[in-house]
Amino acid sequence: MTTTDEDAGRQVVVVTGASRGIGAAVARLAGARGYAVAVNYHRDASAAAGVVRAIESAGGRALAIQGDVAREDDVVALFDRAVQQLGPVTALVNNAGAAGRPGRLDALTADDLWRLLGINVAGTILCAREAVRRMSRQAGGRGGVIVNVSSAAARLGGAGEWVHYAATKGAVDAFTIGLAREVAADGIRVSAVRPGLIETEIHAGDPGRLARLAPLVPARRVGTPDEVAEAILWLLSPAASYTIGAILDVSGGR
Ligand code: NAP
Repeated sequence: MTTTDEDAGRQVVVVTGASRGIGAAVARLAGARGYAVAVNYHRDASAAAGVVRAIESAGGRALAIQGDVAREDDVVALFDRAVQQLGPVTALVNNAGAAGRPGRLDALTADDLWRLLGINVAGTILCAREAVRRMSRQAGGRGGVIVNVSSAAARLGGAGEWVHYAATKGAVDAFTIGLAREVAADGIRVSAVRPGLIETEIHAGDPGRLARLAPLVPARRVGTPDEVAEAILWLLSPAASYTIGAILDVSGGR
């Protein structure tokens, strides 16, 4: 696949961590709404291929691209391939993330901490940097939209479970606010969503967690990846044209 004249004006979205969970739901919904979708994944090639197949069989266009968002060379290659094969990137959903093993801070290993900082913080920032370099009107780009995926943990703190994870998402919130102000005049809109308890494999380290916590959610249930994807697709859309630096809670009231 190479870019053609038909690509001019087409919306191209890079969704990181799109092989499973919230990212896969975002990729499928974006495909259905007419975006060409770069489906980034880290390890699970067959799951990413399944997301691409689902988008294509619904009439959309998608491409699976392997890459670890914590590695700068992988991030640059991800954007280069997306541009070469799908066209200029107009949107980024900075979704790839990990929570690690739940537990109190005194049980945290430095390796686990560096891994989470690498994926959730450095990965988010590096992907945004590559998007800004390509989208910025001052640099000859066409503008664009970035949606970061934070977490309600940034507000709640994650006590007893993962305060370090919550801290990485606090960093995502601060980054969202600052970057939104920095690049708004370059034609780039930046915002974030803060999902609450969403049914995905990120909770695999504590299989009973969702059932245990669901009654504490004001909505009295956990959310679905599709419910988060709907909010993200709205933030990506022109309907959100004056929504800049916003952090939207998608958390059932929690
Ligand atoms: P998930 O089901 O565990 O999926 C994680 C995705 O991220 C997978 O596609 C995985 O790819 C990818 N990924 C992991 N490490 C990566 C790396 N280094 N580089 C590139 N991709 C990587 O998680 P999820 O629940 O959908 O979470 C998505 C985002 O929502 C995360 O940022 C998470 O912090 C946030 N969030 C989730 C919840 C929730 O309750 N689920 C709540 C708040 C916030 P592979 O499959 O290829 O490894």
